[in-house]
Amino acid sequence: MVDWTAVDLALADIESDRDRATCQRLSLDYAHFSPILWPQLQDRAADRVLYPRSEADLLAIARVCVQEQIPLTVRGAATGNYGQCTPLHGGLLVDLTAFDQIVWQRESRLRVQAGAKLAAIDRALRPSRWELRWAPSTYRTATIGGFFAGGSGGIGSITYGQLRDRGNLLGAKVLTLEAEPRFVELQGEAVQAINHAYGCTGLITELEIPLAPAYDWQECMVNFPSWAAALDFAQAIAEADGLIKKMVCVLADPIPSFCKALKDSWQTGESAVLLLLTEPSLEGATAIASELGGRISWQRSPQDQPLFTLMEQSWNHTTLHARSVDPVWTYLQMLLPLGEEAQFIRHIQQDWGNNLLWHLELIRSHGQVRVAALPLVRFEGRDRLQQLTDQLTAAGAILFDPHTYCLEDGGMKQIDLQQLTFKEQVDPQGLFNPGKMRAWREKYGDRTV
Ligand SMILES: Cc1cc2nc3c(=O)[nH]c(=O)nc-3n(C[C@H](O)[C@H](O)[C@H](O)COP(=O)(O)OP(=O)(O)OC[C@H]3O[C@@H](n4cnc5c(N)ncnc54)[C@H](O)[C@@H]3O)c2cc1C
Repeated sequence: MVDWTAVDLALADIESDRDRATCQRLSLDYAHFSPILWPQLQDRAADRVLYPRSEADLLAIARVCVQEQIPLTVRGAATGNYGQCTPLHGGLLVDLTAFDQIVWQRESRLRVQAGAKLAAIDRALRPSRWELRWAPSTYRTATIGGFFAGGSGGIGSITYGQLRDRGNLLGAKVLTLEAEPRFVELQGEAVQAINHAYGCTGLITELEIPLAPAYDWQECMVNFPSWAAALDFAQAIAEADGLIKKMVCVLADPIPSFCKALKDSWQTGESAVLLLLTEPSLEGATAIASELGGRISWQRSPQDQPLFTLMEQSWNHTTLHARSVDPVWTYLQMLLPLGEEAQFIRHIQQDWGNNLLWHLELIRSHGQVRVAALPLVRFEGRDRLQQLTDQLTAAGAILFDPHTYCLEDGGMKQIDLQQLTFKEQVDPQGLFNPGKMRAWREKYGDRTV
């Protein structure tokens, strides 16, 4: 049993929330996108939420966790989709948003504190004409620490691939939960131990990352009479090496009608491609659009009043908008079979019709343009969802299950021995975000439960 009076006394100098309702609210993220995950997570809550402001605060928290064997889960902005920051076994939820400073910038290399918000980082970098390589569509609220610990990629992945690709993370400073907690510095390949580990392998206080040249991104929406024509166009844009782009997103009919911002630029039956391109690239894109029968239905340059941005209509914001129209929609995540994308969609569509609406994001993966899909799925029960995922897998898609909080069963696909070995060193009691890492659970059980 944890002696909470002693814990509160030991951490009395650190701002905290203790009442159950607040702790529960702050413990939840966007797992409600999944009707499978939500019932498993909605009642989970930390016992305390703490707001450290210094490394000394963090060390004090870590010492108490080790002494009292209390789970420690990190909270960035809690925009994750799989309950990543939801403590399964209570304990302390540590909010890192006070750690929001840029430590240094050296040309295209940035050292930044983990609680900094992505949009704020880009704003600060702007005068230097560098920017972050990617943004999740939650870039306005999400933190850089939460993005690397819990995200996978997003706007920018068409050029720079996924966060876990080599070269995308250069270094990190991490707090351990060893017998005597300390900060360790990771560089080179060692840094992969904390990349997309849901905070199970340490609390990241600083990240070192490479930057991208900043452009004045132009946004445009191009409509087509069919999803197949929209996909052809998106692939042509993605593969045109002379066009500099940050986002190529396909929303098949009728998905644009779910997005308030797009509705007026869309006609019934149309599928849309949402693009972020440099100004000189617009000419080439316009030429390809007219060759393939597309019409530019909306356009914005950075000088225009930003009433909305296409970035917030893409990636999982599409799911958000669909669910705000009808919460029956949930989603899946997958890579479509290379070179057979259109046939694949046609084949699946025969059985699933309007119960499955195709939202595609083009990304770069292992040197090739790949079509990632986050299709909207009308939820008709767990069995039916399983039937669909089985069929998609059998047809050649690689699924990344968004209906699990388990690290390896979602995006990772397999046990990462480097992460497990690192966790054994820095968290021998298994206190960081317990229950999320299958590799640990299978070897040691949930020791803190
Ligand atoms: C509408 C919507 C759209 C989204 N679009 C995208 C997208 O385009 N691409 C994408 O990849 N994701 C996307 N996501 C998921 C999520 O928004 C991002 O991954 C985001 O970057 C998470 O950041 P956060 O600060 O909210 O992290 P949180 O949700 O707070 O945390 C995520 C995970 O990281 C851990 N963590 C947080 N900070 C640290 C730290 N400093 N040290 C160690 N562990 C830490 C947490 O414990 C948790 O396990 C989307 C989610 C929603 C709801």
